[in-house]
Amino acid sequence: MSRFATLAVHAGRDNLAGAHVPPIDLSTTNPVPSVESGGAAYEALALGGLPPADGGLVYQRLWNPTVARFEDALAQLERAEQAVAFGSGMAALTACLIATVGEGKPHVVAVRPVYGGSDHLLATGLLGTEVTWAEPDGIAAALRPDTGLVLVETPANPTLDLVDLRAACLAAGDVPVIVDNTFATPVLQRPVEHGATLVLHSATKYLGGHGDVLGGVVACSAEWAAKLRRVRAVTGGLLHPLAAYLLHRGLQTLPVRVLAQQASAVEIAAWLAGLPHVERVHFPAGELVGRQMSGPGAMIAVAVAGGYAAAARTVEAVRLITHAVSLGGVDTLIQHPASLTHRPVAAEAKPHAAVLRLSVGLEHPDDLRADLEYAIKDAHR
Ligand code: PLP
Repeated sequence: MSRFATLAVHAGRDNLAGAHVPPIDLSTTNPVPSVESGGAAYEALALGGLPPADGGLVYQRLWNPTVARFEDALAQLERAEQAVAFGSGMAALTACLIATVGEGKPHVVAVRPVYGGSDHLLATGLLGTEVTWAEPDGIAAALRPDTGLVLVETPANPTLDLVDLRAACLAAGDVPVIVDNTFATPVLQRPVEHGATLVLHSATKYLGGHGDVLGGVVACSAEWAAKLRRVRAVTGGLLHPLAAYLLHRGLQTLPVRVLAQQASAVEIAAWLAGLPHVERVHFPAGELVGRQMSGPGAMIAVAVAGGYAAAARTVEAVRLITHAVSLGGVDTLIQHPASLTHRPVAAEAKPHAAVLRLSVGLEHPDDLRADLEYAIKDAHR
């Protein structure tokens, strides 16, 4: 098996028919050679199957070759059998929940914190699921006969809490575990290797890496991939092929970006901890970093003295860093989770009002330090 960096550059790039980069296939429909072969292909694809060996495609919502290349590459990086891509991370999670409900197992056990949108979707039960929030060591006790999924996010958005995946998967027993791997990326952590059944990404973040493409993807077994493709075919959540092309290209530089951003984040997290007016720095540490993740990643959460008012003034004072939601791009972003990404979260689980979330980009760390120091001082004047 190729090394990770090599796979990142080459996966999903075979059979290029003389081209050096993959073509973008924008066809919404495909000529059907005969009613019989077209009908057979339609049926296979609509049920979540793969296209027939003779390549019979029917309609973009059912299958698109550019999307399939990205899926193939991501599956290889996550060491999963297959992957299924969607128009956003939330569409990807939605498909997983619909598939679970469809199997008559609507109960989900989830460990907080998770991304605010995921929390909202689960807490409202909009898709017919019922959630039990559990601590990692309470997963086994929370399971019921109708539990269809255990959901964890590690490192978690926004406080970078870690969950021991091996322990969580053992506790879940036969119940599939879905791991949101958006923050770690397969560069630092591959949940399938620790027993996870489904690996979810907001591809919008590190996989794309440049803040210009929205997408989601689930890496999983062939059996789960068929279920998800079936849901995708009927609910219409397919990733657009132009987005798939950009995401596939983004994978080529993923290891380089993540490792460089991580190196800056390590410096900045240590520096922030010694800064006046900083009360707490949340940054992955402990034995899971090294065993489960190969490094802490490039996301930092920081609690400033002075609560909400000081946190709000800090994000409004940055000049180089952008005050915006999202993360994982080449430029550094900062945001206030309690007001923005985690706004819909119930009061008892909302991030502390003093906490800011920082996505460290590729700028020189000295410039980032200077900007943060200025903003934190300004907020405490
Ligand atoms: N999971 C995590 C950890 C996220 O941070 C996000 C978005 O911020 C999502 C899922 C949802 O992804 P998307 O915004 O692509 O729908």
